[in-house]
Amino acid sequence: MSLIEKPNKHLIPSVNYHFWQPCNMRCKFCFATYHDVKKQLLPKGHLPKEKSLELIGLLADYGFKKITFVGGEPTLCYWLDELILYAKEKGLTTMIVTNGSNISAEKLIQWQGILDWITLSIDSLNDETNKLIGRKENNYTFQDVNRYRLLIEQIKNFNFRLKINTVVNKYNYKEIVSPFIKEVKPERWKIFKALRIEGQNDKYFSDVSITNEEFTHFLHINHTDVISQAVVEYNEDMRGSYVMIDPAGRFFDNTKGKHTYSSSILESDVEFALSQVSTNYTKFIERGGVYEW
Ligand code: SF4
Repeated sequence: MSLIEKPNKHLIPSVNYHFWQPCNMRCKFCFATYHDVKKQLLPKGHLPKEKSLELIGLLADYGFKKITFVGGEPTLCYWLDELILYAKEKGLTTMIVTNGSNISAEKLIQWQGILDWITLSIDSLNDETNKLIGRKENNYTFQDVNRYRLLIEQIKNFNFRLKINTVVNKYNYKEIVSPFIKEVKPERWKIFKALRIEGQNDKYFSDVSITNEEFTHFLHINHTDVISQAVVEYNEDMRGSYVMIDPAGRFFDNTKGKHTYSSSILESDVEFALSQVSTNYTKFIERGGVYEW
């Protein structure tokens, strides 16, 4: 992966496209609920397929190199495969972030050759913890450790690159997942401190928030044996270091503790809309945003 020189040598080369608001889970710390977008702008919680395809084309033509399809839960979208295919045809590295509950062998077969990375959101291997977090569907947790093992085995057998995201919060900061991480060996393990975003997760955030000391406990006491292989993001690292797009097709940033949205990318253009949000290339580099993807 080489950093792009044009049109802006300080352009963050990866973009997170939260193209799909609906989710089958209700994690209390979720900072991508987009209830505001759904209520004010987009009753279905997503653009029509054709608009999303158009948007992907604009992003690729502008110079982005990698696109991450995020939700909500992206695998609930019937046309996700078409979005991934088009992004790949446009030369982008492709990734999805998923809770894993809706991935089948059939889906993995369909994604072969067009999807590069699968990021699984795994916060805990404990059923009760996942229920408390809200990482459950109709009170059933998907996160049985053996289910994860099987899913990861399939992901690897199909040669997808594997990343794991873990959000550390009040319910899981005392847990230890080192043996699991050593066993499944993700290429990348990202550990986030739960981040409060007004309008997205402030309603339940007091239930899940932790102090920096509690976060440090998870990192350096419980996971000292694997922490050197992880990418860690404190709240400050997460602010302004990502290029993100909401389900309505607008860039947004979180530097003010809430989402600040640009105008519609489709109705203006990428450069103009991007100039309306705050992104920090240096912070992107410092949080390890550049790696062999
Ligand atoms: S599974 Fe992901 S998108 Fe869905 S509620 Fe949980 S954190 Fe949010």
